[in-house]
Amino acid sequence: MSIPDFTLNNGVTIPAIGYGVFQTPPDETVTAVEAALHIGYRHIDTAAAYGNEREVGRAIKQSGLPRDDVFIETKIWISDFGYDATLHAFDKSVGKLGVQTLDLLILHQALPGEFDLTVGAYRALEKLYADGRVRAIGVSNFMPKHLDRLLAETEVVPAINQIEVHPYFKQPEALAADAEHGILSQAWAPIGGITFYREGPHTSTLEDPAIGEIAAAHDKTPAQVMLRWHIQQGRQVIPKSVTPSRIAENFDVFDFDLTAAQLAAIDGLNTGVRGGPEPEDVTREKYGRDIPEA
Ligand code: NDP
Repeated sequence: MSIPDFTLNNGVTIPAIGYGVFQTPPDETVTAVEAALHIGYRHIDTAAAYGNEREVGRAIKQSGLPRDDVFIETKIWISDFGYDATLHAFDKSVGKLGVQTLDLLILHQALPGEFDLTVGAYRALEKLYADGRVRAIGVSNFMPKHLDRLLAETEVVPAINQIEVHPYFKQPEALAADAEHGILSQAWAPIGGITFYREGPHTSTLEDPAIGEIAAAHDKTPAQVMLRWHIQQGRQVIPKSVTPSRIAENFDVFDFDLTAAQLAAIDGLNTGVRGGPEPEDVTREKYGRDIPEA
């Protein structure tokens, strides 16, 4: 089944839905990615820090699909920031993935306290882009002030900003900043995966009564409704699942439309409470880790 694309600010297209592999253990990754490719996903989102790039590459190879049919995205971890270190991090990632070029390479986080290193890392991405080693470059977890600083000091406007967005955390300011600069917002934890771990009244988006009601009205599941909400509002999504039935369920979101009132009802669930790390507080001291050689 062919699905719609989004067009990035450099003309490159990306499928509206991709497949995420954060927290997918390496020994489950090949099977999971193969299942996703079999179902029809053509975009895989991994990261150097996930420790499963090698298995993602193996699954793509074993699928028999032509390299150009699969959009491969990965991320540079903060421990590899700085111009030369980031160029080397690219070699590590493509070495593990077993490919020559990447479709999208992004910085996993900003380092607000060491922004020179962040800029150096991004300049390395610009160099890789200029050399044709990556088809698009971008960022992740960049808040508006981080984008402003980056844009002031670099040339290529990021194609994508991958940020936490789900019904309980919409961060409208970050979405507005992305839109203002022509950057596609890519929603991580799109069905609220990060909310599953937290205590309190907003435990799981999957069990939210308002989302459940909308799902029942369309004969769809809460996960499908959340993914549809993102796509209809122009956000690309990368749900993660290692469960074949859910991998298929999450892909089956192109045969219904939410009404304006339903979209607004989901918007109204925003709690403003972030599930992931506060981007301003990310430091190498706290989150640094060695990324092995290929
Ligand atoms: P998701 O919102 O994708 O939720 C994943 C969780 O939901 C898993 O526990 C999965 O379980 C479960 N699940 C998936 N589909 C369904 C379904 N249809 N019904 C019920 N449960 C379901 O959260 P993630 O945190 O995984 O985010 C998605 C992707 O975003 C990541 O894999 C990664 O690629 C990216 N990401 C990026 C970050 C960044 O800092 N840039 C941070 C976090 C994520 P199971 O697997 O057991 O089926």
